[in-house]
Amino acid sequence: MAFDHWHIYQAEEFPLIPHSFSYNYTCLSVMNWAAMKDSKQHCVVIGAGIVGSSCAWHLRRRGLEVTLIDHVPPGQSCSSGNAACISTSSIIPFSYPGMIWKVPGWMLDPLGPMRIRPLDFPALLPWFWRFWRVSNMQKVEAIAAAQAQLMYTVFADFDEILDATDSQYLRHAGGAIHIYDSEKEYRDNQWQIDLRARFGFETQRLTTTEVKELAPCVNLHGGVAMMMPGWHHLLDPEKVTLRIAEHSFAAGTNWIQDRVTLVKADGEAVRVTTESGQSITADKLVVAAGAWSNSLAKQLDYTVPMIAKRGYHSMIADPGVELSCPVMSLSRVFVMTPLSDGLRIAGTAEFAALEAEPDYRRAKALVKHASHYLDGLKTDNVTEWMGQRPMMADSMPVISASPAHDNVFYAFGHGHYGLTQGPTTGRHIADLVEGAEPTADLTPFRFDRFTNS
Ligand SMILES: Cc1cc2nc3c(=O)[nH]c(=O)nc-3n(C[C@H](O)[C@H](O)[C@H](O)COP(=O)(O)OP(=O)(O)OC[C@H]3O[C@@H](n4cnc5c(N)ncnc54)[C@H](O)[C@@H]3O)c2cc1C
Repeated sequence: MAFDHWHIYQAEEFPLIPHSFSYNYTCLSVMNWAAMKDSKQHCVVIGAGIVGSSCAWHLRRRGLEVTLIDHVPPGQSCSSGNAACISTSSIIPFSYPGMIWKVPGWMLDPLGPMRIRPLDFPALLPWFWRFWRVSNMQKVEAIAAAQAQLMYTVFADFDEILDATDSQYLRHAGGAIHIYDSEKEYRDNQWQIDLRARFGFETQRLTTTEVKELAPCVNLHGGVAMMMPGWHHLLDPEKVTLRIAEHSFAAGTNWIQDRVTLVKADGEAVRVTTESGQSITADKLVVAAGAWSNSLAKQLDYTVPMIAKRGYHSMIADPGVELSCPVMSLSRVFVMTPLSDGLRIAGTAEFAALEAEPDYRRAKALVKHASHYLDGLKTDNVTEWMGQRPMMADSMPVISASPAHDNVFYAFGHGHYGLTQGPTTGRHIADLVEGAEPTADLTPFRFDRFTNS
């Protein structure tokens, strides 16, 4: 592709764009998208996390004119600090029989695996009502079936996008070790193992010797370990998102670094206005703004039951221990993932308002938990991070056309699994935007699925 296809707004061409971000393409191979035909259709994508960047990549690949907009550079929000796991077997919703009774306990323990900030609780009640409504086995199985359909193509979708962006070196296909602290907990959760197995996601129980061979520093303290072959991990999730976005820019996607404040659609066209006063008119719009998507959806349709389920990480640059794959404690609900620049200890769920201040005691508590499992862990030189998972009440993303506007599409709400499902969502959204038949049944992911329930 010739360089005259580039439409990158540089700061000097577009003085309203902040100067904080410019691209250097010298490292990018020019793509061989020989089949790409330029279409006259222009599609705006709001949000440059893993989901929006993947949407933009697929849309540009199909030949649409694409504009990606975000007020921060690609991959910097929730898509940067996550646990970096491509966890295809994660099909079971967070709401299941008995789960809701744990809520009072969470409220009492400020550093437990889950926390609801008491002040924010009243505003979260409608979401918890929806959350509770799906906590029966019939719904759990239906959600697992829907999620499994998305998950079946995740590795192939990653292969496509990582191959094209020369990023396979950032993926490690070594499974993950899951730990329960006791045999009883393992047995109590056997139904989850069985349900996953029914959809083809097998789990192998490991002996203590096998764990020691795989990860000598891991101490089970008498607990139970399992190998999850359906997991891969990325060595740097932020870089992967950035490379996907950069690759699409090199193919001609426009980049605007600005916050979208107004969105309008009238069937013929969409109009997007930004904080700095830019106005962009396009044929189609994809809202992929993660935990902030409801503020845009309500201008076009209405809001859906999504909240920001906050998570934290502590990153140890020199941990003094080695892991070859992620190790997850299912009892304490966190993951230890070996990344290119150290060990990331990520997890916890905090229900709070979008704008609430981070509580970094939760990141510190993660380091304590990691010290319990990893003999010899060095805990100096730690950096901390907080991110907002876009969490739907039924644990399923929205991958959907708008109910009211033929030219508006939604791609958000991926909760704990947005990194895993980002490239797959991008491909399905490109199908919807193009009017092609999606390769999966997207009915369970409709935007309007809560309307009559
Ligand atoms: C601690 C933690 C661990 C996790 N671990 C994993 C894991 O191991 N595996 C996994 O699959 N997932 C994991 N996740 C979840 C995953 O990170 C998220 O689901 C995913 O990053 C969501 O991607 P996104 O693109 O939808 O949102 P984001 O990455 O948040 O991107 C949304 C973007 O929209 C932009 N935006 C918002 N509003 C506007 C506006 N008005 N105008 C312009 N731009 C706007 C934001 O600036 C942001 O850049 C984890 C999350 C956390 C917090």
